[in-house]
Amino acid sequence: MQQSKPPFRIFIAIAVGIVALGYGIHTYKDVAKKNQEIEETNHLIDEFNECQDAADWKCAERALRALLEKTPDNQNLQLHLAGTLYEQERYEDCIAYIATLNYRNEDLEFLEKKSRSLLKEMEELGIARSMHFRVEFEGAPSRNDVLEALSVLEVAYDSLCHLFDFHPENKMHVVLYQSASYQGIGPRPEWVGAIFDGKLRIPVGLMQNREIYRPVLFHELTHAFIRAMTRVRVPLWLNEGVAQLVDGSRVDKERPYGPAPSLEALVTPFVGESRTDEAVKLYWYSLEMVKIMFRTEGNQTPKEQFLKFKDCIQDFRNKGVDESLREHYGVSSWKLWKQVAR
Ligand SMILES: [Zn+2]
Repeated sequence: MQQSKPPFRIFIAIAVGIVALGYGIHTYKDVAKKNQEIEETNHLIDEFNECQDAADWKCAERALRALLEKTPDNQNLQLHLAGTLYEQERYEDCIAYIATLNYRNEDLEFLEKKSRSLLKEMEELGIARSMHFRVEFEGAPSRNDVLEALSVLEVAYDSLCHLFDFHPENKMHVVLYQSASYQGIGPRPEWVGAIFDGKLRIPVGLMQNREIYRPVLFHELTHAFIRAMTRVRVPLWLNEGVAQLVDGSRVDKERPYGPAPSLEALVTPFVGESRTDEAVKLYWYSLEMVKIMFRTEGNQTPKEQFLKFKDCIQDFRNKGVDESLREHYGVSSWKLWKQVAR
């Protein structure tokens, strides 16, 4: 399942704050130099915002450090830097950095407190820092369930790196939660087990059910890879379609009874759909549309097909969805929908 979520709550004011700063505090005699300076700053802000939206914290940190070189005392930037260290699971660095700042506020307190409690939880569970995942716990999951989830996730991670020939620069953020009340934001229909909303949110109770947790983890991790590979939102049908193709759980299901969902319904978050049969339809049509993309070149190996798919979604950013689909597959989303909905 996939759901969008607004970024971390402290990351809200940067564009306004810094643009005002760019115009406000310096008066250069040389207008050209001033303009260049403002342009550079704005460029770095854009870059930061883009990296933050993509949860690419390493890239966000680079932009912030460059901005802080220009204005080292800017508290807004300092807060954001503390946040990016935290988001990278560098809790010790985050705590140490906050200690160097000469101001305090609620957000810094939150980051420091949360960093300390996460370090404590890892220590209490006896869990070493994972190579590719940044783990948070909600509730009190058992050590065995946590280790099992992480080991399956590592296997899935390796497979996806190989499949897409892509190695994410940032750790993936996993929240292992114990109770339904911890399941991210908002009410969710009962068929939603795990979700990816920028973080992989996995109910650890799932780990008791071996037949289902593997496909579920592969599915959600595919969403995380899609997000890491692109910096734009991909259409829902495409995201859900490829995640199902990878998880392999619904590949041979028969066409659901009743009229096809509209293309519009297929680009609207599926978790908004509370009727199970309608939700099943949305997933089925998504998968069929993506299967057509993977069918167009029958003589390509699966690996070649996934690479082609990656190129296509990475071009969404500059070309737009339909232009890129046309270039790589000779179809538009509407054409794909038409072929399945016939
Ligand atoms: Zn999904």
